[in-house]
Amino acid sequence: MAKRTRIIEGTWNCTSCDTRAILARHRSCPHCNNPREETGKESEFDFGEVDAVSGKSLREGVTDAKALSAAAAGADWFCDYCGASNRGDTPICRNCRAKRSATSRALAEEPDEPIGAPHPPPAPFAARGSGRKWLYVGLGLLACFGTCMYWGSRTHGVTGQVTTTEWTRTVHRETFQRVTREGWRNELSSTLPRMPVNGMGEVAGVENIRNCFPRQRGTRQVADGTERVCKTKTRQVKCGTTEKCKRKKMGNGYMKEVCEDVPKYCSKRYEDCDTRTRYRSEPVFDLSCTYDTYAWKEVDRRVESGRDSAPRWPELRPGSLDRLLREEKYAVRIDYEDSGAKEHVYEPKSESEFLSWKRGQSVPLQVNNFGSVNILAGNAVR
Ligand SMILES: [Zn+2]
Ligand SMILES: [Zn+2]
Repeated sequence: MAKRTRIIEGTWNCTSCDTRAILARHRSCPHCNNPREETGKESEFDFGEVDAVSGKSLREGVTDAKALSAAAAGADWFCDYCGASNRGDTPICRNCRAKRSATSRALAEEPDEPIGAPHPPPAPFAARGSGRKWLYVGLGLLACFGTCMYWGSRTHGVTGQVTTTEWTRTVHRETFQRVTREGWRNELSSTLPRMPVNGMGEVAGVENIRNCFPRQRGTRQVADGTERVCKTKTRQVKCGTTEKCKRKKMGNGYMKEVCEDVPKYCSKRYEDCDTRTRYRSEPVFDLSCTYDTYAWKEVDRRVESGRDSAPRWPELRPGSLDRLLREEKYAVRIDYEDSGAKEHVYEPKSESEFLSWKRGQSVPLQVNNFGSVNILAGNAVR
């Protein structure tokens, strides 16, 4: 790519008579003849506006031989005696004829200007940028989640009081009964049933396998040709060129500008396709049969409950083919004050644990900001 170089001439302001925008080629003010010096910002040149996108100077470049030679003379130096600025390639002050000494100050040639620096190279895929964005969103959510969890898990202590102790006991009576069921032929084998003794030792059995007919048992996936699957994706492609310029101050009122055409990238959508095997669902049939067997069936149930401290089992007598199933539930209600009246219900696991709770007793509680309650010590621990 060809580079195009231009020399841009700066301007300065005279601090003696306030004449503004004097071209750099004038080493003395055309109005008052004051020599340009280092002081009073006289040697800080203005190079005018640049195009924000390309970084190209909006000024015309200089082409006359005199100006080009002044630009090529190197950085200016300032006379130790009179302070006047001089061309980098002259050994004697043009103002007072003093010699340039080893200590004479010079204007520095500046490094490349940041203005108009080329844009960062485009990512090969647009997806990379958005991936980064989602990463930040994720981290943000994680941090927020962490903070909330921390806040929620902060605890404080309160004292509660037991208001009620409740028990509920249920007895289920079940009978071993003859029932008709359906099953898959390959999972059935004839077995004689055995009746329970004291509710135990029973065998359900399988008898009278009959009425077998095919029924759908499931499905299977069968290959059925191929299909083309396409996804629309985006990639960066070259789409012409764009001009980018770098500028460098030469330390003498001139600026060197180098422009070149760099590739421009545009997002382009394309179809990413793939050939895949297609599948279809096919029913699978199997023989289903009716058979006789035995099963436990609930025929009766008694419930008893109370708020005293003497839990009792309801009375229920089993028949010869029966069994009894027992169920017990306990609850201790604890009132406490925590920005309003609240209730915590604790469920003891056993009768002995239940009996250790007394109505009216105080209970130390630990409550966190989510409202979940822990009983601190005592009864619940055992
Ligand atoms: Zn002047
Ligand atoms: Zn001098």
